[in-house]
Amino acid sequence: MQSPIQPEALKTGRDSIILTMSLIKFFSTNGHPEHVDFRRALLVGQAPDKGLYMPEEIPKIPLSRLMEFSRMSYPEIAYEVIKPYLGDLVPDDALRGMLADAYNYDVPVQKVFDEKYVLRLDRGPTCSFKDFAARLMGRLMQYFLKQDGKSILILTATSGDTGSAVAHAFYGLDNIKVVVLFPENEVTERQRRQMTTLGKNVFPLAVVGKFDDCQALVKQAFVDRDLAGLNLSSANSINIGRLLPQAVYYFYAFSRASPSGKEAVFSVPSGNFGDLMGGLIALKMGLPVHRFIAATNENDEFPNFVRTGIYEPIRPSKNCISNAMNVGHPSNLARLFYLYGGCMDETGHVSRQPDMELLRRELYAVSVTDAETRQTIKEAYQKYGTLLEPHGAVGFAGLMKYLAECGEWSPCISLETADPAKFPDEIVRLVGVNPPLPAAMARLDEQEEHFENIPGKYDSLKDYLKRFT
Ligand SMILES: *Cc1c(COP(=O)(O)O)cnc(C)c1O
Repeated sequence: MQSPIQPEALKTGRDSIILTMSLIKFFSTNGHPEHVDFRRALLVGQAPDKGLYMPEEIPKIPLSRLMEFSRMSYPEIAYEVIKPYLGDLVPDDALRGMLADAYNYDVPVQKVFDEKYVLRLDRGPTCSFKDFAARLMGRLMQYFLKQDGKSILILTATSGDTGSAVAHAFYGLDNIKVVVLFPENEVTERQRRQMTTLGKNVFPLAVVGKFDDCQALVKQAFVDRDLAGLNLSSANSINIGRLLPQAVYYFYAFSRASPSGKEAVFSVPSGNFGDLMGGLIALKMGLPVHRFIAATNENDEFPNFVRTGIYEPIRPSKNCISNAMNVGHPSNLARLFYLYGGCMDETGHVSRQPDMELLRRELYAVSVTDAETRQTIKEAYQKYGTLLEPHGAVGFAGLMKYLAECGEWSPCISLETADPAKFPDEIVRLVGVNPPLPAAMARLDEQEEHFENIPGKYDSLKDYLKRFT
């Protein structure tokens, strides 16, 4: 902090909040003694003990302020939510500029029926909700790296959409290279093309294996001292820089769907649980939420845990049509456990059980089969004229199950996390329409692809990465 604290400032609500906030540090869920500021947590991604960074304190936004959000634009709301974590690391003008630039697309809150909404997070440049996090993270990283005159190599694993969102967010920057690992047989052609048609500083790798294998390879590279010279950084949802931007759209959706301030139900299609963590952080920041629905596909390790209190990863993960959610051991559970007073390490070992009563009160977890997902896509289209894709359909099916089991509630907001045009085969088969191709994907099918294949062995990845030293 540059200026000494003025006693008067401490008395006026807003200023005092900002003064305390610039002190927010981030600590590792595995308990590493060193606590770091946002800038460091962002640039290193994962803590040195393989834990995930969490803020020491979660600042509250007073309800009176929240009620003003209905008159604010998306970038303005993003400023209110994110500023407290950054303190004075980024000057206001620069931060507001980054937010306006990152969030220059629509975020429709679309009515399906009554007060049941779909929050469309699919209007960014790569047509998935991953754009929200990647675009701000890219801008913040670039800002900090320029200050230091440093360069980094972003190493990230993708189950389908992270890779392209990150690649687009960092494309063409000279101080950043991006290596993306994707499971060769588990992404759709359009998802793959969104990564492989860029070139320049973007290096996609098709891995023989599953998403969990890609994620494990990435994690191993991060703790490999031989690669220290590469300045590896992560853009996976293990990076706190991905999480905080994902708290913003919950505030935004609430401000549009619940202008009276009544508690809302949110349904979140979940894989690695980064999206849901954004929601839980919003809740802890004061967002009035009646219940979160954590909707998974047939990879049901979390719904099973909520029911039984026993956590068992699913290995190998199951291939479901909501491919970006084929995760058998979600990395963000370590954070979720922490929020509820528990402790889980990166392998999924639970050393302290979370407060199950509170967790069950705030979260309803449900698994949705592929058959139910397909049925939901059909019904939403035939009954309401709403075109969902497999991930959003898992969320919507989860919401319907919740309402059937726990009783009617309004308003409800189900997150639609990708554009149906990313999954054309499935949609055509189910509802007989070819989802319109968004402008952002218009030329994708014709462009030339560039990528390499590697076996799912760590040595192959290491050899590949050594080229960049
Ligand atoms: C990544 C992704 C998800 C899952 O989000 P998590 O944060 O990993 O839970 C859901 N839908 C789509 C389209 C995705 O790309």
